[in-house]
Amino acid sequence: MIHQQIISKLKLEPYTSPTGPLAIHSPIDGQEIARIAETPLTDIDSMIDRAHAAFLAWRLVPPPKRGELVRLFGEELRTHQEDLAHLITLESGKILVEGRGEVQEMIDMCDFAVGLSRQLYGLTISSERPYHRMMETWHPLGVVGMITPFNFPAAVWAWNACLALICGDTLIWKPSTKTPLTALACQNLLNQAIARYEAAPENLQQIMIGGHQAGGKLAESPHIRLLSATGSTAMGRQVALKVAARFGRSLLELGGNNAMIVAPTADLDLALPAILFSAVGTAGQRCTTLRRLFIHKSLYNPLVQSLKKRYHALPIGNPFDEKNRVGPLIDETSYHAMQNALRQAQQEGGTVFGGARILEDACPNAYYVRPAIVEMPQQTPVVCTETFAPLLYVMKYTDFTDAIALQNDVAQGLSSCLFTNDIREAEYFLGPAGSDCGIANVNLGPSGAEIGGAFGGEKETGGGRESGCDAWKSYMRRATNTINYSDTLPLAQGITFDV
Ligand code: NAD
Repeated sequence: MIHQQIISKLKLEPYTSPTGPLAIHSPIDGQEIARIAETPLTDIDSMIDRAHAAFLAWRLVPPPKRGELVRLFGEELRTHQEDLAHLITLESGKILVEGRGEVQEMIDMCDFAVGLSRQLYGLTISSERPYHRMMETWHPLGVVGMITPFNFPAAVWAWNACLALICGDTLIWKPSTKTPLTALACQNLLNQAIARYEAAPENLQQIMIGGHQAGGKLAESPHIRLLSATGSTAMGRQVALKVAARFGRSLLELGGNNAMIVAPTADLDLALPAILFSAVGTAGQRCTTLRRLFIHKSLYNPLVQSLKKRYHALPIGNPFDEKNRVGPLIDETSYHAMQNALRQAQQEGGTVFGGARILEDACPNAYYVRPAIVEMPQQTPVVCTETFAPLLYVMKYTDFTDAIALQNDVAQGLSSCLFTNDIREAEYFLGPAGSDCGIANVNLGPSGAEIGGAFGGEKETGGGRESGCDAWKSYMRRATNTINYSDTLPLAQGITFDV
């Protein structure tokens, strides 16, 4: 049994028990792969206390030395890349090449964080007062809570954890109840790195297994200095309100409704594979999945015909079979959400191609679907909603600025792209009147970001930025320091205050 081998290789047996209340099913065939315990809600306060005690020690370890732990963790990932990729595929259903890619992204993140551990720079600032010096300094923040989704069960955690660790924070991770084994495997690999490192306090990271109530406890606790929550906009809305009520800090990475504009000068040899990867890759279950395609009227018919031909020939099935490009949906709820959206789209004037369930006889407890293309006369309510499935709405446009306005006219603001060879269009799209998304690309698709750039989106996507660039600042507190080395006490703005 492949799942028993994977569980054993990643040393997950101690977490499993035949009577554990939480059953984990693989979306590949619906089979139960393990049962595990949930964290009692009554234990969460003491977990947070332990994380805080660990923080008091970890914050004093110099950042480059903290980086050494992340370097060792990266080595563990390199050694176990194949096993972890298999577990990600088993638990989330993404094809194996994408499982491997997810672990590679974690390794890249480790490398990035190790370098950054020597570059947590602050500014020096000119003071208006003589013999004064001003500077900003960055300090560890505290306990960071992380809530993560099923579709990137390891990488989303790594984006946060690698940065939080080098920034001197300690961690409590609540993974999705659909993919907790991947989280426990990551914890084991981190523990192996910690065992080879001399300076880590106990409880540097703890895992909390549970659903929305457990996540809610993290959101409510004033000792969670940063809550990083990745998932649906509905989830973000609930946790953000709780965090805001206690004036806490949240970092939100929520739903997307990503678009591509294919302009008259587009190179279709680039656009076509970009559409395919971003619309059907990960079975349409990426936050950056392409969901809305605006095609110029001059290219509409040939491009839609080519797309339908490619969709018809897509290899769909077991994600361990390396010839397949589309695996299963995560579960039955997700399948029904897709079918409901297709029905609504038809009622709103859409013409549906694909979308049916397949492989039902061979896998009655799994949900494989043929990805759908829905030609829409306009951008109706269903198009403005994120349905987390391989469902691509296609619309025709005439005027370039109208296409941009439609692209921006949704509540979400994660990722967007334009295919064009017209430099004026490209620059306009990237400028202040162009795309309003956190990610805007030219001549490549909306999904599959590199870790070097800050990742995140605007509006109902939550506004957070994770991963590269200066995202580390979210995991630290900033202090402005002014030092007076004169023998007088001049006040700012020239104020005199003689008493
Ligand atoms: P989800 O919102 O159902 O669950 C995400 C996490 O939130 C899980 O750990 C879940 O247990 C927890 N949760 C749910 N409700 C909660 C509540 N009320 N309080 C506290 N915790 C709660 O999302 P999902 O189905 O696992 O993932 C898919 C969604 O995630 C999509 O909307 C996708 O766009 C989004 N996503 C966004 C990004 C991003 O970076 N913007 C990345 C990946 C996924």
